[in-house]
Formats: sequence, C-alpha cells, structure tokens
Amino acid sequence: MIPFNKPYYSGKEIGSISGVMETKVLTGDTAMLRKCETFLEKKYGFPKVFLTNSCTMALEMAAVLLNIAEGDEVIMPAYTYVSTANAFALRGASIVFADSKSDHPGIDESKIEKLVTEKTKAIVLVHYAGIACNMKLVKEIAARHKLMVIEDAAQCIDAYYNDSPLGSLGDIGCFSFHETKNIHCGEGGFISINNPKLVERAEILRNKGTNRSAFLRGEVNRYEWTGLGFSSIPTSLTAAFLLPQLKSIDPVQKRRNMLWEKYKKALSPLAKKDILLPGIPAYASNNAHMFYLVCRSGDERAALIKHLKEKNIQAVFHYQSLHRSPYFKNKYKGAGLPYADRFSECLVRLPLFYDLSNKELEQVCRQVLDFFNL
Ligand SMILES: *Cc1c(COP(=O)(O)O)cnc(C)c1O
Repeated sequence: MIPFNKPYYSGKEIGSISGVMETKVLTGDTAMLRKCETFLEKKYGFPKVFLTNSCTMALEMAAVLLNIAEGDEVIMPAYTYVSTANAFALRGASIVFADSKSDHPGIDESKIEKLVTEKTKAIVLVHYAGIACNMKLVKEIAARHKLMVIEDAAQCIDAYYNDSPLGSLGDIGCFSFHETKNIHCGEGGFISINNPKLVERAEILRNKGTNRSAFLRGEVNRYEWTGLGFSSIPTSLTAAFLLPQLKSIDPVQKRRNMLWEKYKKALSPLAKKDILLPGIPAYASNNAHMFYLVCRSGDERAALIKHLKEKNIQAVFHYQSLHRSPYFKNKYKGAGLPYADRFSECLVRLPLFYDLSNKELEQVCRQVLDFFNL
C-alpha cells in the first residue's frame, strides 16, 4: 500500500529526546524550547516565536490577543480546516465566510472587501497548500478598514510571498507541526507575533495567565496571575523531537519539491480532460506541502479514489466547506459559495512525503492517467 502520508523522521529524534530525559527537566519553558524558537526566528526572521501544542492553540491565542469578542465579525475562507473558524467562534465572533478562487482553493481576495462591515475586526487568511494569498490586495483592504490580519499558516513552513516568509506578513502567524505537515512533532505548532504590541501579552497568555517567563528571566521576584491565560507550552520532550526536524528542513524541502515537480510534469496531460492541477502565482513560492488535482465532479472523484484504492494507493479528499457544516449551516446567512463547494466535492490529494520513492510516485501517476484513459 502506498499511503497518503508517512511522517518524516530525521533519525536524530531519539538521541535528542534521551538528552532531555537525562536533564530531568521535562516541562515547557526550557532551553530546548528556546532552541527551537530561536531557530525559527533566525532562519525566517520571525520577530517573536512561541511554540504551542498545535496550530489550533495558536489560532485560539490569536483570537484572545486581538480581543475578539461577542458581536465582532471575522472574515475567512469557507474552504478551510475547522480550527480556523472555531478559534474565533469560541470567543463569540460571527464568522463571515468568503468563497475560494475559481482556480485555487484559497480565499478570493477580490471578494473580501464586500464582506466588510463596521463590525469587522479581522481577516483570517489560509495559505492553502502553502501557496500565498495575494498579500498586497489583503493588506490594502486591511489598511483601508483598519482590520487586523491573521495568517493560518499551518501548511506554510518554508513558504514565501515574494521574499517574505508566510506567517510573517499579518499581525500574527499560526503554524502547525502536526504529523501530516512537512516537518512535525506529532502534535505541535507555533505562533509568530509580528505586531510588537502583542508580544508581552502573548508571553503571559501562553503561560497560564502568569508572568512566570519574566520570573524565570529574573525580571520579577515572584510570579503571579497577571492576565488571561492558556496552557499552551509543549513539553521539552516534544521540542527535543522537533529540533532535529527543524534542522532537516532544507533536505526535506528539496526532496518534496522534487517529488512535486515530478507529479506536475507527469500529470500535465490531465489538462486535456479539464482536470485542474495546482498553479503557483508569480508572487508565491512552492513549499511542496501538497499535490492535488480537481476532478470534474464529485462522482468522478469518488471513482478515482476507489480506482487508486484498488491499486493499493491511498488518495484522500480534503475540507468540507464550513458554511455547510452540521454546526454552522443553520447559522449561515451569506450567499452561496460555489467554488468552495466545488473544491469540497472535487479536490483529491495524492501521496506526497519525504520517503515516497520515485518508483512509487510513477506508479501513482500511471494509475491516475489510466483512470482518465490517458
Ligand atoms: C493542519 C491545519 C490546522 C490544524 O493544525 P493543528 O496543529 O493540528 O492544530 C489548521 N489549519 C490548517 C489550514 C491546517 O492545515
């Protein structure tokens, strides 16, 4: 069976974890965590990074840091993971869903401004498949209406908008190290605080509402309850697993990009059958997080997934539009979102992971082309 994903191992995780176990300090706010955070700050220029237990947690922190409250409106794409919306719904915000582009599952930036009202507080972007949204357009809209911008950059490690890393362009960027992402620690993530006004509160927020971090730095002589808080700091064991993954990012990206390019080349005949393949806008880099194709109908997609399964290949669909979800469908008051619906029904993701061999990739391509009689 060729699985959809196999989590990447660098081979150095066990040694790194053993090292932390020997220190007998396994909790969160330690040198090992700061090593990971500093690595990300140095390599990508993020101004302030805090590791979290997940991207979901980072998004929930973002909603609190922006003081999102009952009655505020937050604009985001409908074609996204539950956590993007749930983080803001938890604070009582009204979620305002925008459609995807016709040729890309990401938010249609040209439809955002029509959704802005005097209650709008923030735009939450999702850079789908690690492909940047058009940040120039989004930032112009945000500036005109004084809105905060949050990037759900869960899939965006090592991805860029022009020369800027994704996750560094909004007020806050939220990343995932879930095992399905390019590099990972099982469950984990980080928050990049790009707006300097939010750093101090973020440090208190992550540490159960206390100034314990300042205390550990010797800046105060006791630590106390100083604000609202979460328990969002991963253990040092998690950080120990993550550090060698971070250090392997360049070879991982090189391999994934090579596989992605092979897919794109081998599957290019699908264009003749009106099957959409991923495109990369000039302003975006490709971090090879995902290779997908978009079938002409839901039935065609189901048949393709079944065909591949019979050939021992696991291909999977992706999000179900949130405006039509069981939780939200009765709350949704907006217009139809035909492109989000189309990607929900027709998009299929192919196996893409570091250990996928060239031979396996060729097998997948041959079976996909066979299915379409190419
Ligand atoms: C993976 C993912 C998440 C959730 O990440 P976790 O670390 O599992 O919480 C959120 N948003 C998007 C777009 C994702 O791809």
